[in-house]
Amino acid sequence: MKDQSALGFPAPAIGALLLGLAVVTCTAPRTGATDAARRGTLRRFEFSLARMGTTFNIVLYHTEEEAASKAAMAAFSRVERLEAIFSDFREDSENLRLCRLGAGMPRAVSPELYFVLENSLKFSQLSGGAFDVTIGPVVQVWREARRAGKAPDPGRLAEAKKSTGVENIILDGEQRTVQLLLPRMRLDFGGIAKGYAADEALRVLKSRGIRMALVDAGGDISIGSAPPGQAGWRIEVRNGLEARGERVSMVLHDLGVATSGDSFQFLESGGARYSHIIDPASAVALKNSPGVTVVARDAITADALATALSVTPVEQGMSVVESVDGASAAIVSRGEKGAEWRVSRGFPLIQRQREELRTAGPQRANHN
Ligand code: AMP
Ligand code: MG
Repeated sequence: MKDQSALGFPAPAIGALLLGLAVVTCTAPRTGATDAARRGTLRRFEFSLARMGTTFNIVLYHTEEEAASKAAMAAFSRVERLEAIFSDFREDSENLRLCRLGAGMPRAVSPELYFVLENSLKFSQLSGGAFDVTIGPVVQVWREARRAGKAPDPGRLAEAKKSTGVENIILDGEQRTVQLLLPRMRLDFGGIAKGYAADEALRVLKSRGIRMALVDAGGDISIGSAPPGQAGWRIEVRNGLEARGERVSMVLHDLGVATSGDSFQFLESGGARYSHIIDPASAVALKNSPGVTVVARDAITADALATALSVTPVEQGMSVVESVDGASAAIVSRGEKGAEWRVSRGFPLIQRQREELRTAGPQRANHN
């Protein structure tokens, strides 16, 4: 596992890597490219872009480099547009502008913001409040604490908590409006927007006829059809089991996968290790949070459920995920005897073996 300093917060959930020019890289085998295109041979291309506080990686198969590249750029434009809507770091994002307007009138919002907010409320209800998109004011207090390197003052947390609660959002689907009922509310889409953006990027690729593709938004992965001649994309998961020297991998297609955990963003203070995920009931960041991997029909569902199941007790998490069509989960909790592993019905595990891990990162798509 990647080594972290006590202030492990290199990649805030959304928007931190916005400054400067977008770096888009393309890697593809160049030799014989024209020949391959002439023969109609599918080649594998990889593109990456830093956005939403993470790196988006696209892997796709196409016969021609130019068309592959244009499609990837179109998918990345979609990601950029979504960042401009959901960012919690860009003051001019639609989200933060909406929150600045404060409590009061219903406000018209973009279809994207409405859709993700509606989903957020659905996952909140499904998880008994564990997933909470109104957690923003509390997240801000913990973010400051991480910067300061010490746990926040309980009084400040209690104050911030007063401006949370999904019951304080009213949606009107016909008018496509959002009404915030309390002053100082702040929506935080950090637990769901990357999965949605990965789905949307994949949708753009599909609209250009590219189905054999995968979009990995730093561990929130939207997966298309299987690569040529393969049963699916091999996904290796790092969710805490690697501490026992175990490796978990799955071969998937046409699904979403997400992993939540505190490997990359946490605060160590007073002997406790606090996650970037917060229990909305107490406004306290999770201590010793589990590693949760969710497989679902799409990445928005996997992303939201992985965050929610980090908060719920394991048993409750298992029944939450089993209530969602096509969803399954693996939860690795840190018990007294070390890592403990629970898998829900239908989890598509193909391999769990003791092995030296080669890769770094919370989750890695192995590009067949
Ligand atoms: P993820 O990495 O997808 O689990 O999302 C974690 C991010 O979601 C955090 O960095 C916060 O921005 C946000 N968040 C924290 N706690 C919650 C929660 N209980 N419900 C929804 N979002 C949360
Ligand atoms: Mg999530």
